[in-house]
Amino acid sequence: AKASHGERFCFYEARMDEAARDRRAIAKDLWEAIKNDEFQVYYQIQKSVMTGETTGYEALLRWIHPTRGFVSPVDFIPVAEECGAILEIGEWVLRNACREAASWDNDAKIAVNLSPVQLGNVNLVQVVHEILIETGLSPKRLELEITESTIIGDKVRALHILRQIKALGVTIAIDDFGTGYSSLDTLNSFPFDKIKIDRSFLMEAEQSPQSLAIIKAILALGKSLNVPVLAEGVETETQLSLLRAEGCDEAQGYLLGRPAPMSGEEIRRAKSA
Ligand code: C2E
Ligand code: CA
Ligand code: CA
Ligand code: CA
Repeated sequence: AKASHGERFCFYEARMDEAARDRRAIAKDLWEAIKNDEFQVYYQIQKSVMTGETTGYEALLRWIHPTRGFVSPVDFIPVAEECGAILEIGEWVLRNACREAASWDNDAKIAVNLSPVQLGNVNLVQVVHEILIETGLSPKRLELEITESTIIGDKVRALHILRQIKALGVTIAIDDFGTGYSSLDTLNSFPFDKIKIDRSFLMEAEQSPQSLAIIKAILALGKSLNVPVLAEGVETETQLSLLRAEGCDEAQGYLLGRPAPMSGEEIRRAKSA
């Protein structure tokens, strides 16, 4: 019994080792990725549920590694946060997304994800300000997406920084709403401009009365706080009809468009279609 316990332990340890090695290898390559031009920003359309009008695009980072090929942000963002590379990478995404959006001939918003690590950076407000000036993007077209977990740390500090960002004219969306830790008090004290319902709720909505009830509750919350609500992960017409019936403001998901690289030309075509 002792031997088999030992074996299992070694097997487990070897697997942990492998995972740790993999993370170290990814971390090492991450620091080179910007310089080597391996990142690309993809854009996913956001639309008004009622009118079908384009309201914005979310910037989603893509990494094409020379030997690993496509690496999912789900796998490399946590590593980048752990090793600190997220500061440089996050700034790169922001700069490129703003520059590209400034060249579009429409006034669609550009939504950029902000890591909790970036919110902890003392230079964040200045970085955002400089990028807006440098790219010429109107601040009201920039939206920063933060998750609820971003603000469970030092709330006072986070609130201070978010207020400064808002003072620039930039808006704030709460991402993956419903999955984090936040209390209603967070909603009450934070200056946010949009709620994004996590896609797990819509995924379950047709089978689970609980998920549907949560969606309705979040929509009611948005209404009473006078904050628009966007539903993530809309994949079917049935889901879109449900959102329309419940009075959801905006939607995003594969049904409306997959994340894709976007040039000014493609945006123009998308708009006139
Ligand atoms: P997120 O911010 O919640 O982004 C939405 C994710 O859902 C994206 O995955 C998007 O491709 C995916 N998605 C959109 N519509 C649908 C749908 O209809 N069905 C399904 N199944 N999925 C859909 P992606 O691009 O793989 O990004 C994953 C996560 O990585 C993001 O989740 C975000 O947390 C993080 N991420 C991506 N880009 C950045 C970035 O530039 N900075 C930071 N800090 N995080 C990023
Ligand atoms: Ca997001
Ligand atoms: Ca999300
Ligand atoms: Ca998510």
